[in-house]
Amino acid sequence: MLKVFPLFSGSKGNCTLIVSPEANLLLDAGFSYREVLKALSERNLKPEDIDAIVITHEHRDHIGTLLVWGRHIQTPVYAPSEIVDNVQLRTGMSEVHGTDGSFDIKDIHIERYRCSHDSICCFGYKFVCGNSRFACVTDTGIPTNEMTEFLSDCKAVMLESNHDEDMLKRGEYTFVLKQRILSPYGHLSNAQAAQVLKQLVGTRVRTVILSHLSENNNTKELAFNCAVNACLECGAVEGRDIDIYVADQYHNEVCICLD
Ligand SMILES: [Zn+2]
Ligand SMILES: [Zn+2]
Repeated sequence: MLKVFPLFSGSKGNCTLIVSPEANLLLDAGFSYREVLKALSERNLKPEDIDAIVITHEHRDHIGTLLVWGRHIQTPVYAPSEIVDNVQLRTGMSEVHGTDGSFDIKDIHIERYRCSHDSICCFGYKFVCGNSRFACVTDTGIPTNEMTEFLSDCKAVMLESNHDEDMLKRGEYTFVLKQRILSPYGHLSNAQAAQVLKQLVGTRVRTVILSHLSENNNTKELAFNCAVNACLECGAVEGRDIDIYVADQYHNEVCICLD
């Protein structure tokens, strides 16, 4: 049994709470420490109740909380081996375990998918507890068959839907930044997320949380409609065959329960 609470999601910071019968995990910790604390306390949790923090990559919107977190409590951190030194140096967290493949934290088995992103390295993760499976893939520039396969045996997935390409191209970002986001080492657009979703229709996936939206180059409506239409094209009706949520940067009330 797994419960998934997306707490904060977007270009300003990311943090998801994953709860099993034995463990409370945070997937990334990249939002304001005060806000993360508040979101945890709303769910009757304190930092001491968090057994481990699993990190996808070293960008600030994924590790920023730890800068302050580490001054209060030394929670074990699990990060790809390639970034252990970087995370330790920048956050002051002392117990950073390097991971090189699958690993276990209490009753949760964790598998990973290598993302294509302009960081030292970046991984999406799958959390397995009994028959419950949840996966999250964000911060990746290209949809791949391997990614679809990775997601397809999970009942719930968090999938990046970062930007609307037209909004990004017409927007005020510099040419270099636009190129970075659009590159195979940037972020998935709504259209790329839709491409993945089409391949997920008919698999085990029943709940999709669109995540890591850009505040400047996307709207929740655009991301949602793009995903709903993609599913519809494959014969899946939102609300009947598949549930689609859009994670918010600042406030999320949704809790996904996986038996
Ligand atoms: Zn990143
Ligand atoms: Zn990010």
